[in-house]
Amino acid sequence: MKIVPFQDLRMLHEDINSEINLAFEKFLSSNHYILGPELEAFESEFADFCEAKYCVGVGNGLDALYLLLRAYEIGPGDEVIVPSNTFVATWLAVSQCGATPVAVEPDVNTWNIDPLLIEHSITSNTKAIIPVHLYGQPVDIDSINEIASRYGLIVIDDAAQAHGAKYKNKRIGSLCNATAFSFYPSKNLGALGDGGAIVTNDEIITKKVRLLRNYGSKEKYRHDVLGHNSRLDELQAAFLRIKLRHLDKLNSRRSEIAATYVNELNNLDFILPTVSNWAKSVWHLFVIRCEEREKLQLFLKNKGIETLVHYPIPPYKQLIYNQLKVKNMPITDMLSGQVLSLPMHPSLRNDQLDKVISSLKEFRKLNS
Ligand SMILES: *Cc1c(COP(=O)(O)O)cnc(C)c1O
Repeated sequence: MKIVPFQDLRMLHEDINSEINLAFEKFLSSNHYILGPELEAFESEFADFCEAKYCVGVGNGLDALYLLLRAYEIGPGDEVIVPSNTFVATWLAVSQCGATPVAVEPDVNTWNIDPLLIEHSITSNTKAIIPVHLYGQPVDIDSINEIASRYGLIVIDDAAQAHGAKYKNKRIGSLCNATAFSFYPSKNLGALGDGGAIVTNDEIITKKVRLLRNYGSKEKYRHDVLGHNSRLDELQAAFLRIKLRHLDKLNSRRSEIAATYVNELNNLDFILPTVSNWAKSVWHLFVIRCEEREKLQLFLKNKGIETLVHYPIPPYKQLIYNQLKVKNMPITDMLSGQVLSLPMHPSLRNDQLDKVISSLKEFRKLNS
């Protein structure tokens, strides 16, 4: 049986094979492996891409969030508002700096954090909000910034799934106080290993993250702040520079696939993603809702179609967050029981896409 893979990074890299190999040879003979010219060039190019002033490359997306929280001096006793419906890393960053994540439910249509519910969760200890542009769709940034400015809160947006996405025609990356990106291989902009970055217009925060990522050291062997070792290395930066040049094109292919899914699956009784009219999603994932999710996933699996669930267990139900005693989150629970991510990646061929669509139609015919 021919498999329709959920993700195919090998195919993607085959298309840019010669560029990647050239970059590797240049890197190998450069004598710069950490904090060198490739990283500097990538930081400048990615900041430009994001329509922002500054970018600092770090070890991964979790560290990007964590180092930003540290740079804003958020720590023990502080509360940070996070979506209940996100990958656990958003919460882990808050916990790692000693602060407490406070969960807010998503909007039932967009599946992103509901700005209307944020205000109820603000206390005198709240210091920041971390909205997540889930599955590639921007959150309602203006509404969140408005609440934040009324209460004097910092907004750090988690854009690990949203490289290149636009909010009201502006790129994600300079619209909140600071933005965190991940370059995990399967993200829209992915390294060939781990990587991450912070992007911002704030010069002071930029300098602080530069210190924090490098042992808290401005001057070699002098340490004024408790730092870390979390740097985007030269090799990954070199690869990311190449992949950045292809990003818009690859995101367009994702949009094309999403449009086909939406057109073809429209009247089949699956709940399809709702994209707000001010949002330009980059379709990191194409997620549908189905009440018989397990049955559908098995049906597709038997046809060789790989699907995944993002995410089967919400962070508040993880063992590590038992002590938070979060009350029930009905929308989050409903989503985690119903969501299914269909194959979505730029190398997905039209014949593979057709097979996914016809299989979904067949499932409906057999189960309605
Ligand atoms: C991937 C991801 C992260 C973490 O990024 P890593 O580079 O894997 O540490 C954080 N938040 C969200 C929403 C993600 O999807």
